[in-house]
Amino acid sequence: MKQYRIHKDDVVMVIAGKDKGKLGRVLKILRKHDRVLVEKVNMAVRHTKPNPQIQQPGGRIEKEMPIHVSNVIVQCPSCKQSTRVGYRYIDETKDGQPSRKRVRFCKKCNEILAQGGKKK
Ligand SMILES: [Zn+2]
Repeated sequence: MKQYRIHKDDVVMVIAGKDKGKLGRVLKILRKHDRVLVEKVNMAVRHTKPNPQIQQPGGRIEKEMPIHVSNVIVQCPSCKQSTRVGYRYIDETKDGQPSRKRVRFCKKCNEILAQGGKKK
């Protein structure tokens, strides 16, 4: 499985395109398309007709459109800088057994980053 350096719920900065410089939270990762959905970034307005069958009023709906993963960069929650993310292993004890866990860390301040959304 492909591993992204960006996880759900990360705060990312857009580095290319019309929303360059914007910050937003990652709402969804679309692995198949190498794209992410970022809150309030790459908004598109959709005009909809009223549909009485599902009781949907017509009008303008603003909606995030996915952007390519290479166009965003993670912002570190500790040092508040856009940063590159590295990986390292930490040893921990799990159920009395030593185990090794892979964590992400900020290459600028060395702080470990949260692992983002829970795996289901
Ligand atoms: Zn940092």
